Amino acid sequence: MKPITNRVKQVERKPLTFWESIYLISIAKGLMITLKHFFSKKATISYPEKQRPFSPVFRGLHVLNRDEEDRENCTACGLCALACPAEAITMEAAERLPGEENLYREEKYAAKYEINMLRCIFCGFCEEACPKDAVYLSQTVPPASFKRQNFIYSKEDLLIPKKATN
Ligand code: SF4
Ligand code: SF4
Repeated sequence: MKPITNRVKQVERKPLTFWESIYLISIAKGLMITLKHFFSKKATISYPEKQRPFSPVFRGLHVLNRDEEDRENCTACGLCALACPAEAITMEAAERLPGEENLYREEKYAAKYEINMLRCIFCGFCEEACPKDAVYLSQTVPPASFKRQNFIYSKEDLLIPKKATN
């Protein structure tokens, strides 16, 4: 059948010579390549014992920030969720009650805040959209897991711990 394009190359099958038929030269060539790579610098590392330094612009796991008085910065305005192209962020807002001024910085706070790391593309748009300096992407790589549920990070997983008080 006539080919549609002219990319087809006809290969001429020549009979093997004596030296080719005993494969000694081919085996020696193969061993030379193995030997060359044996002494050359390895392209791989023994992860996770050894880790490569990340680029300064690397974006990893999200963190929810607190202010200098240890109160949650997030006011559940939803701008990060709106900016997220992967729709990875969901939240539920709640009103701050009297007496909770030491917990939440403003009148509204996120009662629930979730990020689905399986959806996240680590673009950093949520960080840029946040007017309260509440969410940012750290340099931590989300740990691997066999369970999908382990990639849904709740507010408790994301919130930075309170500063230790003496
Ligand atoms: S880094 Fe990008 S994809 Fe991930 S949650 Fe933020 S906005 Fe969404
Ligand atoms: S993290 Fe920032 S942008 Fe997202 S809801 Fe909280 S305050 Fe708004």
